[in-house]
Amino acid sequence: MSAPVPRDLSALSVTDVREGLRSGALTAAEMVEAAYARIDAVESGVHAFNSLSRELAEQAAAKVDALAAAGDDLPALAGVPVAFKDNMNLIGTRTTCSAKILADYRSVYDCTAVRRCLDAGALPIGKCNMDEFAFGSSTENSAFGPSHNPWDLERVPGGSSGGSAAAVAAGEVTLALGSDTGGSIRQPGSFTGTVALKPTYGRVSRYGVVAFASSLDQIGPFTRSVEECAQVLGVISGRDPMDATSVDREAEDFTAALGQGVDGLRVGIVRDLCEMEGCDPAVRARVYETADALGKLGAKVGEVELPSTQFGLPAYYIIGPAEASSNLARFDGIRYGYRAKDAEDVMDLYLRSRVEGFGPETIRRIMLGTYALSAGYYDAYYGQAQKVRTLIIRDFERAFRDFDVLLTPTSPTTAFRIGEKATDPVAMYLSDVFTIPVNLAGIPAVSVPCGSIDGLPVGAQVMGAHFAEGTVLRVARAIEQVSAFDPVPPLVRDLA
Ligand code: GLN
Repeated sequence: MSAPVPRDLSALSVTDVREGLRSGALTAAEMVEAAYARIDAVESGVHAFNSLSRELAEQAAAKVDALAAAGDDLPALAGVPVAFKDNMNLIGTRTTCSAKILADYRSVYDCTAVRRCLDAGALPIGKCNMDEFAFGSSTENSAFGPSHNPWDLERVPGGSSGGSAAAVAAGEVTLALGSDTGGSIRQPGSFTGTVALKPTYGRVSRYGVVAFASSLDQIGPFTRSVEECAQVLGVISGRDPMDATSVDREAEDFTAALGQGVDGLRVGIVRDLCEMEGCDPAVRARVYETADALGKLGAKVGEVELPSTQFGLPAYYIIGPAEASSNLARFDGIRYGYRAKDAEDVMDLYLRSRVEGFGPETIRRIMLGTYALSAGYYDAYYGQAQKVRTLIIRDFERAFRDFDVLLTPTSPTTAFRIGEKATDPVAMYLSDVFTIPVNLAGIPAVSVPCGSIDGLPVGAQVMGAHFAEGTVLRVARAIEQVSAFDPVPPLVRDLA
């Protein structure tokens, strides 16, 4: 006899769903039902989604159920409800980037990472809210209003992939994809108590994700467990002929090493970052406790410094906006999206479409980037920032000679209140001070919950050398076990 179907299907893991489908205990159609039932229950408070795609989800479920009924092998994400950040294209959906200028834009092709999830049997539930064009750390820069943190609806879920993080934390979906240019997967992961991975640059194709800063962007997963994070990474990674920066490597089973523990692994606490002014001492304390716990499991814990990372934030706010200003040049009111009415001539049309269609943070980034790239200033700003980038890469190379992974908090604080930092861009920018160096160096890093403060989750950031996701996830798995963090927020528990 098959096991009874639990009422809360969205609490099932990727593996539970596969086994349920295989044994006949549940159907993919029921998973779709469960996801939308949860959305009905919580979405008015959380606002994780910009749009829902029930028809696509039902079509995908019918295919999975047909496979299961025929007794065929089930693909890796069979029957699993998934959500995508609204900067990832999927035919049959709008891809708005939470921007007025793209509010009615309908995808004409599929993002490779999205397509890989769907080919692996996942059920596309909807597209998630974000900071406009991924500029931000709170989702407050969305043209469609902020998302709310399921742990405390008065607080932000982080950003820019805040909707994706909130959807997983609230159990609206089992997994979600986000994009991370300076921390936009890991920081919302930390704020919402989810596992959130930025892969090595080039590990996952960027084809079909609307570009922010092309030398920094990577797509990665949000999940409730490290094992699921490893499973999703296996699905989305690998060479894609449509992205020349995607790397040709053998497919890997990232789950294989998860159980190996951390005995003998060298873990470096990045002391200068952890001790930085502005890092909440309680957050720092959780991370130090985590390091101690890893030591008790046999890891060799030591300290390391990354002196050039203190210049990471200023370098990022030159390089990121420089690339963004160039990538956003295509939104001109002619080829995509919003077009200003009654323009006098073509220049007036460009200018007014952009001024009316972009929000204030987007305009700030375009101005910063255009200035930094302009003749006469290029060497002083952009050239200098690229040199800093090289120094940061060298810092990491040195550190990885002595350590297998490096550890910091993911963000200096827990989730802040909606509105708290909205008028102070620099305070907002600081919430990515630990995540940004990772993008500049192109290395992988995961945020894994390591405890909580006053009911709000705290994330530890585990960083590894290029393509060392296996080791990074192995350490994250150990942290998950020692911290025994319960990823279900009270909001969701109260529904039961
Ligand atoms: N918060 C950072 C920014 O505003 C990072 C954003 C991101 O990773 N997309 O640029």
